[in-house]
Amino acid sequence: MPAEENEARPAVTLVGDQWSPECSVLRTFLTRSEVPYTWLRPADPLGAQVLADHGLAAADTPVLIDDAGRVLRASRPRGLEPVAEWLGLHTDPGGEVYDLVVVGAGPAGMAAAVYGASEGLRTVVVERWAIGGQSGLTSRIENYLGFPDGISGADLADRARRQATKFGAELVLTRHANTLQDRAGGGFTVGFTDGGSVAGRALIIATGANTRTLHAPGVADYAGRGVYYFAALTEAPLCTGHDVYIVGGANSAGQAAIYFSECARKVVLLVRGDSLGREMSTYLIKQIDAIPTIEVRTHTEVAGAAGDTHLERLTLRDTRTGTTETADATWLFAFIGADPDTAWLGPRFLRDADGCLVTGNDIAAAGAAGAATATGAAGAAGAAEPGWPMARAPYHLETTVPGVFAAGDVRAWSARRVAGAVGEGSMAVMLVHAYLAG
Ligand SMILES: Cc1cc2nc3c(=O)[nH]c(=O)nc-3n(C[C@H](O)[C@H](O)[C@H](O)COP(=O)(O)OP(=O)(O)OC[C@H]3O[C@@H](n4cnc5c(N)ncnc54)[C@H](O)[C@@H]3O)c2cc1C
Repeated sequence: MPAEENEARPAVTLVGDQWSPECSVLRTFLTRSEVPYTWLRPADPLGAQVLADHGLAAADTPVLIDDAGRVLRASRPRGLEPVAEWLGLHTDPGGEVYDLVVVGAGPAGMAAAVYGASEGLRTVVVERWAIGGQSGLTSRIENYLGFPDGISGADLADRARRQATKFGAELVLTRHANTLQDRAGGGFTVGFTDGGSVAGRALIIATGANTRTLHAPGVADYAGRGVYYFAALTEAPLCTGHDVYIVGGANSAGQAAIYFSECARKVVLLVRGDSLGREMSTYLIKQIDAIPTIEVRTHTEVAGAAGDTHLERLTLRDTRTGTTETADATWLFAFIGADPDTAWLGPRFLRDADGCLVTGNDIAAAGAAGAATATGAAGAAGAAEPGWPMARAPYHLETTVPGVFAAGDVRAWSARRVAGAVGEGSMAVMLVHAYLAG
């Protein structure tokens, strides 16, 4: 099945420009999918030679070539599914109706996969990108129990993948769930953006949160060309000896600053507030204080970006006085929080004001407090908020749609930590068992 296929894949060469956003996405995807690859720039002699050997030109890049001579022109508009298929990754669910469909392969979804598959449920995980979720973006997780020396997100994701496949969970990659329907005869059907679907008797939504993007004039023009949201680990080797700007005052930004300080000449951490103390864990603040090449600039925000083919300058603004200054900058990494994307689930789900799914006892509590808001068509039209529809009480992680559970960052009032997500993904499986038995 998929794992063996993946291990038998031939070596891959990627030819693409450093400042090509499409090439940046591919490098991140290959890295996060644990595909060993060689990256060549078309302007380099070796890159030009490889292109010529295959009858290709720089205009054809980014392009993937394997040692069997297969070629894939891999521009972004075609999406990652053709790339995943070309690489031999598993992209199509094999079974007709699963006991459990998990959407999202972050820590919550992978924990659900391990517990579901190891406890007899026919389990499939659908992931729009690569295994690991937000934790896969992390250079080092130091507060997850059992890893006193820390563990990289990539290592954790690889361990989760091996553990889930060992127990027989099916991992379907590069498929983006965008519809949910009840299935005739019971259960649910999850549809994908590019067509296709998967059906299951119970469902765990573990879709976490999407990293927010920076909004300042010009910044969007340099995404993948100096401004990065998901690619810190992939881009870090290119930053050696350069100045790196990082935006954000929470743990993810702190971790990135420490990580980049190992290769960058200087790391400038831009924080809007007056200190790091408000959002960052103490252990990270202490580490940052001890690294002389990290400069923390409080009361500072990015007000603009400029450059030619890639980022060359940032406008920085003092949040107290409004005064601006220009800084030469080639590398900007933003870690400014994340928002859930639950609109695709439709109006039957109760969500909080941030769009997170409300579950269990919180459904009644949120309704009573009037704190939750229904989003989607019904909510927008001012219809009554969705409530719990059955005589029995909802299970702890069950949403307002019986049989659909939520785990991890997508759940209202979740801990927004790896350990919390893993705990909820595991617990959700116990509740799925109870639901299916009932
Ligand atoms: C840079 C960074 C560093 C962090 N460091 C730490 C740390 O040191 N310690 C700690 O405890 N926590 C840390 N966190 C927080 C931690 O990573 C998250 O709390 C955790 O990953 C949440 O897990 P999750 O499974 O709920 O969601 P996510 O990790 O967000 O995973 C959700 C997955 O669902 C997929 N998905 C979303 N929508 C769909 C869809 N419609 N169809 C298919 N797939 C979909 C996404 O692609 C993603 O892979 C960090 C976060 C970041 C961003």
